[in-house]
Amino acid sequence: MLISARYVVPITSPPLKNASIVVEGRDIVAFGPTVKLKRSFPHHKVLDLGHLILMPGLLNLHTHLDYTVFKDLIEGLAFTPWIMKLVRLGLRLKREDWEASALLGALRAIQSGTTTVVDSSRSDSSLKAISHCGLRGIVCGEVFGLNGRRSSQTVQEALARLLGWRSRANPDLIQVGISPHAPYTVSGQLYQEVSRRADEYDFPVALHLAESADEYQFIRHGGGRLARGLMVLAGWSRLSWQPPAVSPVKYLEQWGILGKRVLAAHCVYVDDSDLEILHKYDVAIAHCPRSNAQLGNGIAPLAEFHQRGLRVGLGTDSLASNYSLDMFDEMRAGLWLQRGMTRQVEGLSAETFLRMATIEGARAIGMEDKIGSIAGGKRADLIGVDLSHIPSFSNLYAALIFNTNPGNVVFSMINGQIVMEKGQLKGIDGDEIVKRADRARRKLTKVRQDNE
Ligand SMILES: [Zn+2]
Repeated sequence: MLISARYVVPITSPPLKNASIVVEGRDIVAFGPTVKLKRSFPHHKVLDLGHLILMPGLLNLHTHLDYTVFKDLIEGLAFTPWIMKLVRLGLRLKREDWEASALLGALRAIQSGTTTVVDSSRSDSSLKAISHCGLRGIVCGEVFGLNGRRSSQTVQEALARLLGWRSRANPDLIQVGISPHAPYTVSGQLYQEVSRRADEYDFPVALHLAESADEYQFIRHGGGRLARGLMVLAGWSRLSWQPPAVSPVKYLEQWGILGKRVLAAHCVYVDDSDLEILHKYDVAIAHCPRSNAQLGNGIAPLAEFHQRGLRVGLGTDSLASNYSLDMFDEMRAGLWLQRGMTRQVEGLSAETFLRMATIEGARAIGMEDKIGSIAGGKRADLIGVDLSHIPSFSNLYAALIFNTNPGNVVFSMINGQIVMEKGQLKGIDGDEIVKRADRARRKLTKVRQDNE
């Protein structure tokens, strides 16, 4: 198939006008000027996308798709009260509700131009949703536990679950990984055990790290709001938790979990020595600017990540702490926050953020040879954006970031399969997904009224 468009944005080379991409099976075979490619591939079926801008699909490096129905339900709370409310509300959902919620998340991801997600969740609801919608993804099963003596059993149980997921997943699209949740919910022994098993079974590792002041306080000094609240809620209040008395990053280093396979979400509370550690172990970062701002957690030092040469991509986090799974929203908010905080524009261009949502995101998860840019031999993960409402622009990257909303993403292809064309989903019943999710959501709103 030869897909032609007004612009092709390869990301790793300058945009091309009146250009095409040749796709055979799941792969990109060639790209270049349409006139030239039509001569080189005269027998290929032509799909003319007209005035669309064709570019690589976006990578969302941090999601919990199963929390999608929590959108708009928890607002105005700081980190610890927020997470406690989240846990309490979550108790009201049943398996089918989590599945409906994750499906809605996968749908919203596709509709806003995402083709790859890195998701962490406890149940297999995200795996099912990602598979159903034909997304590419790394699906990580979460493990928790501050009681070090239970760590071996916890990981054994997780292993059985994750190997089951792996046997059911399409290996061409989905990798199964493991997610030791966060420093305030994972004992040193559990990190150690996860690290050993991740090596043994070749699991990517996604985790939360240095996200909030409360987490920092809990790990560094013990006590604080997390100790008073979450520990009780999780049933760990009788544990004799000894704070490691170091930063969250050093805590993870001490227990041997850090390495190239680790993708750490947030990394807001990091100092120079923490950054040095992250660099030393080549840990990749999922930068989540809107979620961090939404919960009042702060703004991560992106310029310093870049100065140290860390691998950094972007993530939305879940809709319990964000208002859309739209990566264009994430890019522009991230750009504004960084420019506002640093009072600088240099090094913080639209192109920088577009790269983080594409090729740099792919590099962060070790998939830069397969996705993240348009190049011969890479998988055909492509989206088409309609910016015909913009009369003119001087910089295509900026035009894309500042003007694209979900309604403007009208074409999506993942692994050579068209999942959306002319704004219409293919093989996915969007109305049914929304209906199912609404039923799940009603349980949460009912709970809210009961509580208030
Ligand atoms: Zn998260």
